[in-house]
Formats: sequence, C-alpha cells, structure tokens
Amino acid sequence: MPLSARSYFVQQLLRWNRLANKRHMPWKGEKDVYKIWLSEIILQQTRVEQGLSYYEKFINDFPDVHALANASDTRVMKLWEGLGYYSRCRNLLQTARMVQDIYEGHFPKSYETLLKLPGVGPYTAAAISSFAANAPYAVVDGNVIRVLARFFGINRPAGDAVGKKVFDQLAQDILPNGRSAVYNQAIMDFGATVCKPAAPSCGTCMLRSRCYALNQHAVSSLPVKRIRPEKKDRYLHFIYIQYKGKVCIVQRRQKDIWQGLYQLPAIETSSKNFPAHFRPILTSQPKLWDDTDYTQVLTHQKIHARFYRISVIKKPEIQDGLWINEKELNEFPMPKVLVHFLKNIHK
Ligand code: SF4
Repeated sequence: MPLSARSYFVQQLLRWNRLANKRHMPWKGEKDVYKIWLSEIILQQTRVEQGLSYYEKFINDFPDVHALANASDTRVMKLWEGLGYYSRCRNLLQTARMVQDIYEGHFPKSYETLLKLPGVGPYTAAAISSFAANAPYAVVDGNVIRVLARFFGINRPAGDAVGKKVFDQLAQDILPNGRSAVYNQAIMDFGATVCKPAAPSCGTCMLRSRCYALNQHAVSSLPVKRIRPEKKDRYLHFIYIQYKGKVCIVQRRQKDIWQGLYQLPAIETSSKNFPAHFRPILTSQPKLWDDTDYTQVLTHQKIHARFYRISVIKKPEIQDGLWINEKELNEFPMPKVLVHFLKNIHK
C-alpha cells in the first residue's frame, strides 16, 4: 500500500536529515537546557548568522545560569547591544534570576513549566522541551510553515488565528512518536537550507515527487503572505549636552522601544521638522550636529534620528540625567542608531 502523504513527508524528511543535512550550529544536539534556552531566546526574530556570535559571547561570559543571574543589567544589556528587541534581554535576565531563586538553579525542561518563564511562548517551549527531553511538541516557525504550506498545499496565511491553528494542528499531527528532537531540528534545517524562501532547491529535493507546490507550479506563491501594516515613522532629536567635560545620558524607562537602554536626552516630534524649542530639556537652542539623517527600522516602526550639540556652563536639570565622561559612553548599552552616531563622531 502506498504511504500516505504525511507518512511519506516524515520519512523522507528524516532520511534527508540522516543523509544530507550538513547544517552546523553550535547548539545542535546540545542537552544542557540553559544553553538550549539561550540559543532559542537569541534566535527569536533573529537570523542564525546574526545570532551565532551573540550565542558564543554569552556562553563565554555566562557559562551557566548562575553567572547570568548574578550579572548586572548593564553588563548583560551591553553584550546584547545590536541584537535588537531588547525585551528579550530583559526577559533573559528575569528568567535567569527566576531559575536561580525559584528552581534552585535547575532549568526546567517540561513544556508547561517552560511556558511560565518570561519570554517563553509555545514555540520556544516546544523547541526547548523537545530538544532537551524529546517531549512531544512540534515547533512551528517561519521555516516550518513554508515547508508545510508548499508540500501539503496550504493556501492560507499563517498570520491570522485560523491559519495559525491549521499549521499548528498539522505540525503536531505529523510529529513522529519519540523522535521530536531530531524531527523538529530536521524540518527547520530543511526549510533553512533546501525549501528556502527564494530559489528553493526543488531540482534535488527528496520530497519533490509528492510536493504540491512543485507539481502545481505554486512554489513562488506559497506560503500565502500576510499583508503587513505600514510602519509608523517616528522622529527623534537627540542632544549631546556637554558640561565640564561630561555628557548627559538618560535611561529609557517607559514601556516603549528600547526600554532599559541608555540614550542622549531627546525630544520626539510628529514630523521630520526640527523642534521649535528644546524645552523642558534646555532653555537655549542647540546646534544641529550635521546633516546626517540616521534611521533604524524596527518591526512596526521606522526611527528617524537627528543629533544636536550644545556646551553649557550651567548644569541643566534633566530628569534622571546621568553625567558621565565622554570616554564612558561606550560602556552603556544604547540603541543601534546611537551606537552608529557615536562611532561616526569618534572616527
Ligand atoms: S520540492 Fe521544492 S517546494 Fe517542494 S518541498 Fe522540495 S524544495 Fe520545497
């Protein structure tokens, strides 16, 4: 009797993994839950190529959960600098401290307990529990969705509630018994290296004879894309205030982008026009540093930044202002746009 499409898919995928999967990543096959968790948090919304060096730096500086839990927020945020989505970094610290205090330093492996940790949703809990303990939970990320949509011909976006349910259910239904660790890794690797978003390797693909997308000429239209809302433009004007060889920085505390990071004091405007005045930060007008428009693109926002400078003889009252030596600026974790600016001016 011919194999069902689902059995064929799983069998061929595992065969591909055994014979042809050459993807190397330092956390692959890792059984230390702390290291698996670290890699998963770093890889949330980050490409493997970008996350690799961060994973290595973190493992090097914080080889176990105690080292991370006992580190200062500023040190950890500094190490995270450039990776973006800083809520992940705050969650990282909170989780490490929870594991140390509540779980006596033993990282949980069970899906349900993992879900109680900050920053751990169903995907991350499935990945950690399956990789660490072979728990029967399917991972569903962008790679998995693409492979399933193309092979099985699923014509709906995964971004809405119904679509998400369809993909979650299918992924869970086909998960082979007792092989979740190897299978989950295999399907993600397959999506990243064979069934890629652009120019998938259909000509040599082990699934080609029964692949819906290939046989129906639908490879480029699957998976169905979700229409993304337009990004919101935000205009930030940062001021480099010098007072007796020191410069003022403030920590972003409000629930907004870059929470917990440091920056120069700033004014936000609703359009790209210069602010008419810089009150309540300053009573006199600073000068534009130069004509450079710095931008940083985030998931839902595009940040436009301009930089100004002023040297003052009377120390201005700046709420939560921290006056530091200019040389110390690079010791504080800052948003990418500020790091870029500081690099430019110190060239
Ligand atoms: S044949 Fe092409 S589209 Fe189908 S699973 Fe293989 S790589 Fe993906």
